Amino acid sequence: MRLSRYFLPVLKETPSDATIASHRLMLRAGMIRQQSAGIYSWLPLGYRVLKNIERIVHEEQQRAGHIPMLMPTLQSADLWRESGRYDDYGEEMLRITDRQGRDMLYGPTNEEMITDVFRSHVGSYKDLPMTLYQIQWKFRDEVRPRFGVMRGREFLMKDGYTFDLTVEDGLHSYNRHLVSYLRTYERMGLQAIPMRADSGPIGGDDTHEFLVLAETGESEVFYDSAVTDIKLGQRDIAYDDVDQCRAVMEEFTSRYARTDETHDADLFAQVPEDRRRVARGIEVGQIFFFGTKYSESMGALVVNDKGERVPVQMGSHGIGVSRLLGALIEANHDEKGIIWPEGVTPFPVGIVNLKQGDAEADAACDALYKSFSALGLEPLYDDRKERAGGKFATMDLIGLPWRITVGPRGLKNGVVEVTSRRSGESEEMTPELAVETIA
Ligand code: ATP
Ligand code: MG
Ligand code: MG
Ligand code: MG
Repeated sequence: MRLSRYFLPVLKETPSDATIASHRLMLRAGMIRQQSAGIYSWLPLGYRVLKNIERIVHEEQQRAGHIPMLMPTLQSADLWRESGRYDDYGEEMLRITDRQGRDMLYGPTNEEMITDVFRSHVGSYKDLPMTLYQIQWKFRDEVRPRFGVMRGREFLMKDGYTFDLTVEDGLHSYNRHLVSYLRTYERMGLQAIPMRADSGPIGGDDTHEFLVLAETGESEVFYDSAVTDIKLGQRDIAYDDVDQCRAVMEEFTSRYARTDETHDADLFAQVPEDRRRVARGIEVGQIFFFGTKYSESMGALVVNDKGERVPVQMGSHGIGVSRLLGALIEANHDEKGIIWPEGVTPFPVGIVNLKQGDAEADAACDALYKSFSALGLEPLYDDRKERAGGKFATMDLIGLPWRITVGPRGLKNGVVEVTSRRSGESEEMTPELAVETIA
């Protein structure tokens, strides 16, 4: 992408209503624009990152054997009357009436709708286990939408629903989700710690939230610092292997790690004092196993191998896709701007031409651009007639992991400058080596 032809409305001033770094930086880097309280347009740069996050979530869900689909954002109130949640959900639900006077709502979550899909098409244990998921916009009329996309009213969520015949199978689905979530966050360069949580209006006993530690997080968390040392890494996970998934779940959840909602001071006191931590965290996902809560009230029954009709065992599992942008920036920035992890960066590399219009510099930039493109990597090429200082500031703000600076002086010696955004270190090398280093 050539910056001269792109739409990157960078702001010079720090917006005054943005109190945390990620919100400030997303506005300054021209990633989002607020249209109403908690409702955003995703400008091209923000949209690219959102799509990258979605792609990772899709890949990891499908690696775990989960099936993608898509449900509408608008739902009929009648479904929610069946489960009893229409009245219970309260003011967070945006209620709408259509021209026929029918009660509709913008879905805050989809347990009812997926249960309806399931009961209409599945009737036998032979079709189980099954996990269906979607990445779709949700709406919750939050009392205090704030921190940009971190607590929006309209936000993008991956929501997955598991259907199993037995409680044991349902718990395996739960463990499988836990493992797939760990892998998803790690691929984005994020550490998200599973913590025992409260189930809230969704109901059920088995539930963990995934928290990214950050001072600006809205949840208070209490944990044994040993939990931060465990990584999934490159382990080979067989998602059908019940014992392996359970072992990973136990490894990651046996140490004390809870949010304020489930915190138990007596248990916490048993953690060695030097490892006790009280901090703040951002909830980037949650998994639930709730058994027959919806299948019973909504009549989602399957015939088991004895010919009996039994309610299906269900769970639901969410990842805050749009919130993850905020969490990623909270965890990866400095005073100059964002520092994208390689897995989610909007462009893998930026090319800065120090002397636009200089035939040699222009040609060298074009050649670099072609080399990266041939490798499937699309650079962002700052080909504007701007001062070098302004170009550097923009690149630092938008946080691409690598910058290649091309100017007539370096080219005389056959070199360009490669700068790592994270370390700030620069090195001169030939353009060929620059491509090799970054690709
Ligand atoms: P919170 O405690 O932050 O209100 P929640 O527990 O109500 O979140 P869930 O029902 O567990 O949310 O939804 C799954 C995921 O969706 C959450 O873990 C979070 O990452 C994301 N999410 C929830 N509410 C919002 C919101 N208002 N804006 C952005 N993301 C959200
Ligand atoms: Mg909430
Ligand atoms: Mg919560
Ligand atoms: Mg939650």
